Amino acid sequence: MTDEPTLDPQDWSALRAVFHEAVDDGIAYLAGANDRPVWVPPPPEAIARLTEPVPHGPTPIEDLYATFRTSILPYAVGNVNPSFFGWVHGAGNAQGVLGEMLAAFMNCNVGGREHIAVHLERQVIDWCKALMGFPEEASGILTSGTSLGTLIAMTVARDARADGDVARDGVAAAAQGLVAYASSEAHSCFAKAFDLLGLGRAAVRTVPVDADRRIDCDALERMIAVDRAAGLEPFCAVATAGTVNTGAIDDIARVGAICRREDLWFHVDAAFGAFATLTEEHRAEVTAMSGADSMAFDFHKWLQVPYDAGCVLVRDAGAHRAAFAARKEYLAGAERGLAGGEPWFCDYGPELSRSFRALKVWFTIKSHGIDGLGAIVAKNCRQARYLGEVVTRHAPRLELLAPVSLNIVCFRYVPEDASKEAANALNKELVADLQEQGIAAPSTTTLGGLTAIRVCLVNHRTRTLDLDRLVEAVLRIGREREGSLAAE
Ligand SMILES: *Cc1c(COP(=O)(O)O)cnc(C)c1O
Repeated sequence: MTDEPTLDPQDWSALRAVFHEAVDDGIAYLAGANDRPVWVPPPPEAIARLTEPVPHGPTPIEDLYATFRTSILPYAVGNVNPSFFGWVHGAGNAQGVLGEMLAAFMNCNVGGREHIAVHLERQVIDWCKALMGFPEEASGILTSGTSLGTLIAMTVARDARADGDVARDGVAAAAQGLVAYASSEAHSCFAKAFDLLGLGRAAVRTVPVDADRRIDCDALERMIAVDRAAGLEPFCAVATAGTVNTGAIDDIARVGAICRREDLWFHVDAAFGAFATLTEEHRAEVTAMSGADSMAFDFHKWLQVPYDAGCVLVRDAGAHRAAFAARKEYLAGAERGLAGGEPWFCDYGPELSRSFRALKVWFTIKSHGIDGLGAIVAKNCRQARYLGEVVTRHAPRLELLAPVSLNIVCFRYVPEDASKEAANALNKELVADLQEQGIAAPSTTTLGGLTAIRVCLVNHRTRTLDLDRLVEAVLRIGREREGSLAAE
């Protein structure tokens, strides 16, 4: 033995035992996902354990694991549970976890170079191009999610459509007056991206929506004309395939046609809606995304890959590379050896070091097959329609607040003789009650001034009986709260 330090254990077999126990517990955790409360808030004791000073000495892995089991594992956000309906949270899948764990063992940096992880990520991207109808010569890169995918796509769009060299000279010199268009229902990641791009949040024009909350294409055309007349430079328009509020799908083909006619970059935000293409009934509503200049979507939502994993595809690979390639001498590629393997992913996004997140996507797609994953998407859409029908049947106590177009149901409990404000307050409290009682975890949103109980179905574990339980609990808690409202 030498006295040179290493982080490897002296006794691998003891570490192996902890790993085995952890894997057994992890499998039990997923197998029992249906049997736990959907959410248990972290208690003060658990939080207090996470406020200690920097640990200078070692802690035995057995003790660390015990702490994890008792004070971390039980207090997760809850999206592995079938009654988690909030926001747009995928449930993950056990086979994908294996990919995540094995990627950590391998510890590859997938910024580039000649190693298998780069080839595997290319494989996953090629599958995506095929599924989304993108040409083989398009480029793509895995991201942490659609927010980063959007930032990448908008950077490429800005650089491709600006008059000057924005990458070199900056926005003030080379990208004056660039404006883009997205509907009022588009995701907040566009505002963030435009801020980061130096164009400013106001450079994303807010296009109004129609009664079904789809982008108003006539308004889009008028706004482009007004901006041009004012001397601005419209350069990009966005269609959303599946809005967060209600699951609305914009008229993607018409937005695309407007972009072609007006010479705008055509981007599709298909964060979860992209995978509607895996269903018979919704494919036609999203096929026009294949004509986009760029699109971003998530594996960690409807494809059930463990967090985090998203993807951005760009039709013009040269424009994509031009927006990000910036390597210095220490990153030079080579004809042979480990520095081969061009093109490198670091030339297609802002990150140099990148994790091997493609492995969990590969494990997920290969183990279930794209048809198996599509069956989950179709199931969730059926469940949304079912929930919509149940809500309608319970009129006037329950009321749908938006048409069910994909996988999202927005409804509310309608108390008798209550003001709008009182009804809104009741529905907010009702959702918090459902969460705190561990029954279900929908989220809320506001539609037409009314607070909605928002149920987003992107979970492969959700059963129809979970929706029946939800409605039962909403009616019960609604009645109880209505009673105390009347007593006030
Ligand atoms: C979730 C979502 C985003 C943001 O994606 P992240 O993966 O959370 O970064 C953008 N657009 C839509 C429509 C979404 O549902």
